[in-house]
Amino acid sequence: MEPRRTILVIEDEPHIVLGLRDALEFEGFRVTSAGTGREGLVAARQEKPSAVLLDLMLPDINGYQVCEELRRIDPLLPIIVLTARSQEADKIRGLDAGADDYVTKPFSVGELVARIRALFRRANRPNEITSFRVGAVTVNVAAQTLTHGSGPPEALSFYEVELVRLLWERQGQAVSREEILNKIWGLEASTTTRTIDNFIVKLRKKIEKRADAPEHILTVYGFGYKLVP
Ligand code: CA
Repeated sequence: MEPRRTILVIEDEPHIVLGLRDALEFEGFRVTSAGTGREGLVAARQEKPSAVLLDLMLPDINGYQVCEELRRIDPLLPIIVLTARSQEADKIRGLDAGADDYVTKPFSVGELVARIRALFRRANRPNEITSFRVGAVTVNVAAQTLTHGSGPPEALSFYEVELVRLLWERQGQAVSREEILNKIWGLEASTTTRTIDNFIVKLRKKIEKRADAPEHILTVYGFGYKLVP
């Protein structure tokens, strides 16, 4: 069995820390927390966490500075920024400061856990592709967008990106609904294979010429899905 991964939560709001601790421990992670930026940096050095969840609005140091300092401590440490701010400028600034991903409060804990798992999957594959083509469409993984030819980028949700990426990585092979659930949604109880079917419908509308006659995201009856690029 692999050792439990430690997640460091740097957040000054106790009820958010409590909610994250419950959800992350349920998923099998060890959780350590710090209520200020300074304590967070000390904990990052001492505990050597596998990932950090960082609130941007901390009582002492500005979260962007904490993020830059975390990057200096460990250039490869996965960092997800949590913030009440939703403006695009804040998001870009957070990513510029070295964050790997970003969630806006109030966030779904289930989606946050899925994002953490996605970061761990990517950390295991450092030379991973950043964009790929499906038919006439280009999917940009980091930007979470999709473009048709030279058209403007269209936003994709986190789960849409993860789902099409998983199918693309296994192109030409049937991937079962159970495997998709395990890899992307994990133990999140509220998710069923029906959820996957709903996301497939959304992806087909965005990617296929005709969503009712798909050429790229194919159904494998009674099993799952297969992507033909
Ligand atoms: Ca705060």
